[in-house]
Amino acid sequence: MSYKAEYIWIDGTEPTAKLRSKTKIVKDGAPLPNWGFDGSSTNQAGGHASDRVLKPVFTCPDPIRGGDNVLVLCEVLNPDLSPHASNTRALLTEVAERFADQESWFGIEQEYTFFKDGRPLGFPIGGFPAPQGGYYCGVGADEVFGRDVVEKHLDLCLAAGLEISGINAEVMPGQWEFQIGPLGPVEVSDHMWIARWLLYRVAEDFDTAATLDPKPVKGDWNGAGAHTNFSTKAMREAYEPIITACEALAENAMEHVRHYGHGIEDRLTGHHETAPWDKFSYGVSDRAASVRIPWQVELERKGYIEDRRPNANVDPYVVTRLIVDSCCTALEKAGQV
Ligand code: ADP
Ligand code: MN
Ligand code: MN
Ligand code: MN
Repeated sequence: MSYKAEYIWIDGTEPTAKLRSKTKIVKDGAPLPNWGFDGSSTNQAGGHASDRVLKPVFTCPDPIRGGDNVLVLCEVLNPDLSPHASNTRALLTEVAERFADQESWFGIEQEYTFFKDGRPLGFPIGGFPAPQGGYYCGVGADEVFGRDVVEKHLDLCLAAGLEISGINAEVMPGQWEFQIGPLGPVEVSDHMWIARWLLYRVAEDFDTAATLDPKPVKGDWNGAGAHTNFSTKAMREAYEPIITACEALAENAMEHVRHYGHGIEDRLTGHHETAPWDKFSYGVSDRAASVRIPWQVELERKGYIEDRRPNANVDPYVVTRLIVDSCCTALEKAGQV
């Protein structure tokens, strides 16, 4: 017998990469081979030397096709098997290995927005719904739009074995969130990319599009972020390392923000539960700070921090690499490992 392997990869679209996938029929018992694709159609090669290589790096059951079928997340390589310039996972694995002894954990909150017929789900033709207030974690047909897709997506993530930890309706109609983690930097990112692929894929079946646009509606409507919760072993055991991590993020603030997703200035305005993109701050319980220390973390004197800056369209391989690099370097220097 043969089974279907859906090879999934991240393309080279600028400024924000897209997901691509295609199906390989694999003979039972055979290992998943490297595969090729036309890089000139994905902004990953010119037309004259267009071949690029797909290298399987993470496999899980395909919850849509069922049976023995699998989803296969891939890294993109050049024909000489070096990582392609768009391959941010290869950069992360290096940094993650360097600081593996600090046992970093991440939980990423992925916000997104459903669109149908050119407007967010729940928005009336040519106008706006009632202002924000009742939609967040709401219930009822006048508050909540798209729950059928969201429930299906949650079930698919669970059936695929992804470490999804929750879902909620967000502040703007048609806007939702799911959380992945806590997991190590590479694992949380692999699970996130598969969860994103499943979201787009299942929304197809409902004739709906999901977007990670960080500011899908201009004006007095919340943007969409990817709050990134982070801890190391030392931070999970004591409070001092929590402050060291916050100070490390302060020191590298602009370098981080530059890579936290295209269009970040439009979302991090200082309004709608955000801090301005060019002014770093951290604080306990503070949803208007760049980085929040949850109240129970201050109380228990240990735990994790929440970087509230990353856009919904951030590359998880990039945000986790920057945070591990900045914070683990500082923690090492401070002897807090
Ligand atoms: P919020 O209150 O900001 O909406 P959520 O409950 O949506 O928070 O998300 C919190 C995320 O933080 C979850 O994904 C959770 O798994 C993760 N998390 C919890 N503890 C830790 C930890 N020690 N280190 C890293 N992430 C953590
Ligand atoms: Mn949340
Ligand atoms: Mn949220
Ligand atoms: Mn949050």
